[in-house]
Amino acid sequence: MATEAGELQGRLDALIDRDELATMRWRSNNAWAAPVVVRVSYGGYLKGGGPYHSQTGAAVFTGVPGLRVVCPASALDANGLLRTAIRCEDPVIFLEHKHLYRQTYNKAPNPGPNFMIPFGKAKTVREGSDLTVVTYGAVVQRALVAAKELEAEHGIKAEILDLLHEMKERFHLALLLITHDLGVVAGHADRVAVMYAGKIVEQGPMRQIFESPTHPYTQGLLDSIPGGAPGMRLRGIDGVVPNLANLPPGCAFEPRCPKRFDLCTSAPPPSYEVGPSQRARCYLYDPGHV
Ligand code: SF4
Repeated sequence: MATEAGELQGRLDALIDRDELATMRWRSNNAWAAPVVVRVSYGGYLKGGGPYHSQTGAAVFTGVPGLRVVCPASALDANGLLRTAIRCEDPVIFLEHKHLYRQTYNKAPNPGPNFMIPFGKAKTVREGSDLTVVTYGAVVQRALVAAKELEAEHGIKAEILDLLHEMKERFHLALLLITHDLGVVAGHADRVAVMYAGKIVEQGPMRQIFESPTHPYTQGLLDSIPGGAPGMRLRGIDGVVPNLANLPPGCAFEPRCPKRFDLCTSAPPPSYEVGPSQRARCYLYDPGHV
């Protein structure tokens, strides 16, 4: 099926409300599949077309549990991802930016009939150390061009953060940084809240969190910071992030937690006080646990 993204948003009920395609596999306990691929064109930078033709609807589609949303950045990505989409057991919205159909930088050799790209894995298009840009679709090429222009400059990350601090002082603002970069947290935060599966699992003063992390997820994050001897393998956290639409019945971190025990699967843990102004959502700190 092929359509325009703006029109598809209006027909979303066909996927989730009326036919309930998106949740079919989950509702049938994996007995039925819904292998549907909806190829959707979208995108600006073209002459003509109504205002609704430039939006992806990705913010709406990605909020539907069970629906897969794919947005390739190049012809090669489209080739491998479309093959994965066709073999997928869930419905897939396959968003294709119309501008990319015509770009010569987008060309690639035909990778053959078995080339597939798995869903859910990012590709490093260009390595760098100062700034991480996470993007998709046609904006990948634009970000690449911008990154090349910035290459000659130094301390880009520090400049951005310094600007934020200047604004904070001048306008007496509170600054909330949402980041995966623990170096940014250590350098700029007074208080830290660590989130996992949509919940704050540990919070407290920055120095305490870094020096005495109490939640196993925080401990795993800090253990995975690079900085060991040259050649030493990086440590990671085993397992994968859970499906937010189908969380484990107990602690959401339990399937990956090296310290799990019986109580962890009973119910989501409450938040316990673990130090001065520091709290953790973990049964290890339950007064009944020894
Ligand atoms: S509640 Fe249990 S599974 Fe969850 S983080 Fe604590 S020890 Fe690990």
